[in-house]
Parts: sequence; structure tokens; C-alpha cells
Amino acid sequence: MEFQNTREFAQQLDAQDKLAKYREEFLFPHIKGKQVIYFTGNSLGLQPKQSKAYVDEVMEDWAKLAVEGHFYADRPWWDYHERFAEPLSKVVGALPTEVTVMNTLTVNLHLLMVTFYRPTDKKYKIICEEKAFPSDQYMIKSQVQFHGYNPDDTIIEIKRRPGEHNIRTEDVLDKIKQVGDELALVLIGGVNYYTGQVFDIKTITQAGQEAGAYVGWDLAHAAGNIHLELHDWNVDFAAWCSYKYMNSGPGNASGAFVHETHHNDMDLPRFAGWWGHNKERRFLMEPNFDPVRGADGWQVSNLPILSLAPYLASVCMFDEVGMPALIEKRDLITSYLEFVLQEIDKEVDSTFEIITPTNPEERACQLSVFLHGEGRALFDYLMENGVIVDWREPNVIRLAPVPFYCSYEDMYEFGQILKKGILAT
Ligand SMILES: *Cc1c(COP(=O)(O)O)cnc(C)c1O
Repeated sequence: MEFQNTREFAQQLDAQDKLAKYREEFLFPHIKGKQVIYFTGNSLGLQPKQSKAYVDEVMEDWAKLAVEGHFYADRPWWDYHERFAEPLSKVVGALPTEVTVMNTLTVNLHLLMVTFYRPTDKKYKIICEEKAFPSDQYMIKSQVQFHGYNPDDTIIEIKRRPGEHNIRTEDVLDKIKQVGDELALVLIGGVNYYTGQVFDIKTITQAGQEAGAYVGWDLAHAAGNIHLELHDWNVDFAAWCSYKYMNSGPGNASGAFVHETHHNDMDLPRFAGWWGHNKERRFLMEPNFDPVRGADGWQVSNLPILSLAPYLASVCMFDEVGMPALIEKRDLITSYLEFVLQEIDKEVDSTFEIITPTNPEERACQLSVFLHGEGRALFDYLMENGVIVDWREPNVIRLAPVPFYCSYEDMYEFGQILKKGILAT
């Protein structure tokens, strides 16, 4: 499609957009009385209008039923989390028994590493990406130390080549071969939080497993954003937070995936709790742990229903719209934003550079823009003028044109504000 950097053209794209009506289903902040252009759905998704009703329902059931709500609420609490299995499994390409919701992301990665990282002196190394999200770095390092190994010799980071912004799949595959029999685990972010690079999950998973390692993925920036087939790609385990693209609310519960092949393997260790116990027998208060045969078997505590409520509201919206429609719009709106940025860059004489891959296969909903010169002042200008973006040191602005609620006209309007900002700062 031939793009044009005009308001009329952007409005035309909005008029043809099948998802345009969903913009009305979300609550936008306002700055100086004007609805913002929201680019930080990769950090905290907007609030769906429906989520309040889901929370109110739990509050009312609690008021009216108190403890009886566990069994007699409209959506009983004791198995509330099971309502996620169907719709969430479609978001990540899994069987319903392979997904669960519980805890928060870093906690779930720790719990899953208890199962899938069991180093021996011959097989103990972990491959991860260079400059992973800090929580992942701390998590992996602390697990290695917990097992008594030295992180310097155990954690192998895949580096970017000099002068390049993104990691090459071939370099990941070469490193896997090189580490070979010593490799215990590959654990990478499916979409890099800083650059927006999408990793080839299928190919890397296969290569890691051929080397005899388990392969897990942190899908914080992938769930609700990219096409996933966790089951068919034979991923061992994965976890994601729900407050980014999945719009569930600040700090909300995490989703977790454990591949079916591991459900009946009772030799795999795990940290157990009563919510992972055989659900028919859970309230018999038996002494021996008999795990649910599925991802639910990794549950520990009974669930925070008040926080699952807005997550459920959001998951139902994903189910209604479906990932294919979201991905179709995501690709078009991201390309349009890229085009607008390139046009503005020409007009203001190359003040910035997009560091996200240009290949549509290797990117999703995010463009990371490296600003030459005084980036911070421009960032402040954007925020004051109704554009919510985020800032990452040393000089990067991340833009996520989330297909659920961003419009093409937002992209055009943003370009105009950006141009004025560059000229003014
Ligand atoms: C957002 C994000 C996290 C956040 O972890 P929490 O446990 O939810 O605080 C972790 N890892 C990655 C890659 C992220 O993008």
C-alpha cells in the first residue's frame, strides 16, 4: 500500500479499520483536556471499560456471600482461574490444559526454573540474551547461585554484533551448538523489551532441545502481541505478565505455560501448594501432594480473585477479537507509523534512527527510536503535548501503536507533534 503522511489518508485507514470500534471500549488519560495518544501499551495497557464490572461483581459477591462465594458466586472463586484456560490458550497457541494464571511474572519464572533448571556438573549452562530485562537477569543469576554455580561461567549471553542493534538467530544457534552438552537451559525474552525484536521461537526451541536442553520463554512483550504456537513449537515452558499488551491492570497476575509432555512426569520437582493439588480432592486436606495433570499443577496458593477479575474481562475481549485480526492491524499500523517517522525524519534532517528490525517477521507492535542529540527535552515536549511515550536510557523512545485502541490518525497527529518538538527543542 502507498502511504501518505496526511490527515485525510490516516482517516481513510481508520474508516476501513474493522477494529476501530474497540477504541471506544478503553479509557484514555487526558492531558490539558485532550485525549492522549497512547504509545505505552507495551508497558501498561489501557483499562477496558468492562473491567470495572468484573471487579464490582467480585466485590458484591464478597459482600453478599462472604465465604460462600467460593462456591456460590456467579463465577465461583474456587475455580475462577479455570475460566482463563480456553481463551488464553488461543492467545498463546496452547492446549487449554497447558496454560494457567497465577502469581506474577518473575515469580513464575522462578517457579518454572525450579522444575526446568536442575544443573549438574556436566550440564549446567544457561543461554540467554545480552541486556535482557533486568528482572530476568537478576532472576537467572540468583537461580544459578542458589544451585552453587558461578554465574560468570554458567550464564552465556548472546551478544549483538558490533554496530548492530539486534541479535541474529544464526548467532543464537551457533552458540547453542558451541555450548552443546553443557547446555541445561535456554531462556530468552520472546520479544526484546528494548528494541522490539521478535525472536524465532520455533527454530531456537528446536535447536536448544536438540542439544539436550530445556527451552523456556519470557513472553512479557509477546503475549497478546505476536502469533504464538507454544504447543506446536514444543516450547517446554513460558510465562508472561498480563498488564502490558493484555490490558489486565497494574502489576496483575501472570500467565504460565507448561507443555503437555511434562504434565505426567512426576520426576520433575516443583514447589507445591494446595492449589496445585488434585482439584476433586483439594478440600479433603490430605497429607500427600497429588498434582493436577496440567499447568494448574504448578499453582501454589488460592488465587487473588479481585485481580483476576479485570484480567478475565480483558481475556474475553481478546477472545472476541482474536489474535489474527489484532496482528493484521498491528502490522499495518506499525508500518504506517514507520512511514510517518521516516517522512518526518526527512523533513527535520535525520535526527533519529529506528533500531527495531525493519523486517516485519522480526518485529511486532513496537518501534524503538534512537534520538541523536538532546533526546530528553524532546521526550518532555511530547509528554506535555499529549503523547505518552516512554524513555529508556541512554536515548531511546519506545512507541507501541497497540492495535486494540490506537488509531491511524493518532500516528499522523503524533508525526506533526514530533516535528514541532524537534524544531522547538
Ligand atoms: C515487564 C517485564 C518483566 C516484569 O516482571 P514482573 O515480575 O511482572 O514485575 C519481566 N521481564 C520482562 C522481559 C518484562 O518485559
